[in-house]
Amino acid sequence: MDKKRRFYIQKHDATNLHYDFRLEMGKTLKSWAVPKGPSLNPKVKRLAIETADHDLKYGNFEGVIPEGNYGAGTVMLWDRGIYKNESDFEMKKAYRKGELKFHLYGKKLKGSFALIKTKREKQWLLIKAKDEFADTTKDILKANTKSVKSGLNLKEIKAK
Ligand code: MN
Repeated sequence: MDKKRRFYIQKHDATNLHYDFRLEMGKTLKSWAVPKGPSLNPKVKRLAIETADHDLKYGNFEGVIPEGNYGAGTVMLWDRGIYKNESDFEMKKAYRKGELKFHLYGKKLKGSFALIKTKREKQWLLIKAKDEFADTTKDILKANTKSVKSGLNLKEIKAK
């Protein structure tokens, strides 16, 4: 079985609010920006735009990125934990094939998810798989507006 690796989700109030979804793969964090954030509803497909790989150390970052810098705005560590590969292949191959399946063990997100590449460049879809953690009514984002690291919300992080 594949070893367990880390994942991070940062709520990022930049030019547009989005959630940065990051999966440890090799020595880096593969990253996607999810404008609408993750959903627990298996019928919902959330656009996930592939962004630059990030350093593993960046995963735990929370704070304000000053104006004029890449990603300027406020970053909250919304969730973190480990994940288990559930793809048909090892992660790097599954990534190349554009079909990642994984089980998240986060504070907020739990259960199986998939990231599926579309025909459009850098555009993937983040989809909750059907399991006991799926929920068609609960809005996980509205129910959880605080940091997993500091307990603060975006406003409080910005004012710190
Ligand atoms: Mn971002």
